[in-house]
Formats: sequence, structure tokens, C-alpha cells
Amino acid sequence: MPAVVASAPGRVNLIGEHTDYNGGLCLPLALPQRTTVTLSPRSDPDLKLSSAQEDDDWEGAVEDRPGGWAAYVAGVVQALREDGHDVPGFEASIDSDVPVGAGLSSSAALECAVATAVAALLGLDLADRSVRRRLADACIRAENDYVGAPTGGMDQSVAMLAQPGHALLLDFADGSATPVELPLEDAGLVVLVIDTRVSHDLTDGSYGDRRRESADAARALGIESLRNADAGRIEELADDVLRRRARHVLSENLRVLAAVGAIGDRDWRALARALDESHTSMRDDFEISSRELDLAVETARSAGALGARMTGGGFGGSALALVPRGDVEAVQSAVTVEFRYAGFAEPAYLLATPDAAARVESVS
Ligand code: ADP
Ligand code: MG
Repeated sequence: MPAVVASAPGRVNLIGEHTDYNGGLCLPLALPQRTTVTLSPRSDPDLKLSSAQEDDDWEGAVEDRPGGWAAYVAGVVQALREDGHDVPGFEASIDSDVPVGAGLSSSAALECAVATAVAALLGLDLADRSVRRRLADACIRAENDYVGAPTGGMDQSVAMLAQPGHALLLDFADGSATPVELPLEDAGLVVLVIDTRVSHDLTDGSYGDRRRESADAARALGIESLRNADAGRIEELADDVLRRRARHVLSENLRVLAAVGAIGDRDWRALARALDESHTSMRDDFEISSRELDLAVETARSAGALGARMTGGGFGGSALALVPRGDVEAVQSAVTVEFRYAGFAEPAYLLATPDAAARVESVS
């Protein structure tokens, strides 16, 4: 079998947060930043793994259930073997320019790069979207069941299915993935990502708390998923926390639709409004923002952004701002200065130009 190099992108979610596991809508895009894996099969079923981003290599059997970063790779192998694929053992070396733990989904980039390399080894047809959908599903199971991070599926879906120049409208009620052209360049706008450098940790429980509260709210409303919640009935919920959690999910789904409509109309002010309202909802109703994220969002707006919101699972990570191209430097320096005044870590920045899904780079 040949050696394969494959890569997969990080992502930023334009709008639609904590909706994926609630049968809802979100609108992520693939970043130009990618994780690359160089994979050579070996004759036994074991794995030998190294990463330029991690000090520790790992070697062993998938059944050994490694902790730490190797679990993301071993989990993908396990999930694909469960799907009936005859995945050989391999040596893999990994490198990435996706910021790790910044809410930009370095985890799905790693999983999807590995899944894509393995798919190429096995001769699967990566031009077939249903093959890509199944690989994404295997990566979701790897992260949920093997790593133990209760993420909802947005990250792996966009990493496998994104198209350059487009955001991807994901509907977790019917499983559809619809590309939405995002001609920001023509409008003189960019999506600026502000990495607060406060690493979130999805396995620390806060994310899982929100997942549980969402399920509790749906149960209290007597429905299977918050996607089908009724606004009037939500406001009648006796429990204040569950009421606000449900309110966020319902209103966030509506904001995703508003954002898609605004993009279609090239109404960038309306898109910006949806971003702003999304942030308010995450800060007040879903309570997943942080002082750093709030400061990044407020400062970006006052320095020229049309709109801004925190993005990703929350509790740290990144914010995004819709910024006229000419104002990007002013926004960046304003945020950097405000962070310094507040005694926060120095933020990092990247421009989110919508890029391509996971792909094979070379086979030798
Ligand atoms: P995010 O996906 O937002 O970056 P996660 O906590 O979901 O944050 O995933 C980060 C984890 O994924 C890291 O702690 C590490 O275990 C693993 N990981 C991501 N990228 C790499 C990489 N390039 N090399 C090794 N492990 C990685
Ligand atoms: Mg992740």
C-alpha cells in the first residue's frame, strides 16, 4: 500500500452555536488553516503516531485506548473498523497550522485528515458526498465515544463537506448540508477571527452541562428536540435556567435563517445584526461567553466592525467580527490594546476566507 498525505481544515462558525446537538441549524466555514497527516501503512494493526504540535509520540493498539491527543487518531481508526472497513495499522506524522483549543476545531481537522488519508488507502471515492458524510459520522463517533468529548457534529461535517468561497448551512434535523455562497470579498468585507488565547476544554464539563440542560429543557417541554420548541411555551417554563437555554437555541436557529437570507440579499448590515444578537443570546441566555470574549466583541464593534460574536463552544476560544477590509488593522490594534489594559493574554488574529474540505494531497 502507498503512503498518503491528506489534510483537513479548521473551521469557524459564522452563526448557529450549540444548535447541532439540538437538531438545529448552523453556518460554519472551512478555514485556510489545515492539519496535514502523512500516513504509511504497516503490516500489523497497530499505530505509531507523532505530531509536530505535541511532545509525546504514541505507539500501540487501538484497543489500548490511549488518552491525550492520540485518542483522536485511534478513535477514527476504531470507528472506521466498526463500520466494517479493513483499516491497516499505520505510522502517521501530523502537522497543523490550526490553532489548538481556540474553538476553531483543531480536533475535527485532525480526525478528518486521518479519516481522509485512510479512505484514500482503502480506495474509497472521496468525490462521492455520501462517502464524505459517512467519514464525518465516523469522526463524530470517534470524538464522542472514544475521546469522550460530547460535541455535536458541526465540526466534522464542515471539515468533510465544505466548499471554497462558501459557508455551509447544516441542518441537524434532516442531515442536509447546503453550500451558501459568501461573496464577502466583493463587498469589501472580511471575517476576522480573534483568538483570545484562553483555551477552552470541551471535556471539562461546561459544554456537557449545556448539552444536558438542553435535553432537560426539551423534556420539560415534552418534545424530542428543541428544534421543534414553541416560543410561547418556552416562556412559560418554570425553571429560569432551562427557559433561557431553550430560548437561545430557538432564537439562534431563527438567526441562522436570518443570516442565510441576509447573505442571499447581500445585506451585510442585516448579517451583522444577526451576529450581534447571537452574541447577546450566548452571553445572557446560554451563558457561554467570557470576559475576554465580551471585550473582544465590544472592542471590535467600536473600532469599526459591522457586527461581532463569540464563536465555537464558548468558555474561551475565539470571537469573530465582520469588518470592512480597510478597518482590519484598526480593529486588531484596538482589541490588542484593550486586552493589554485588562491584563489579558495577547490575542491572535486570522482571516477566515472560506476554504476547501478535507482532501488527499499526494499518494506515493
Ligand atoms: P479545538 O477543536 O477547538 O481546537 P479541542 O479541545 O476540541 O479544541 O481539541 C484540541 C485537542 O485536539 C488537543 O488538545 C489535542 O489533543 C488534539 N489535537 C488537535 N490538533 C492536534 C495536532 N495538530 N496534533 C496533535 N493533537 C492535536
Ligand atoms: Mg474540537
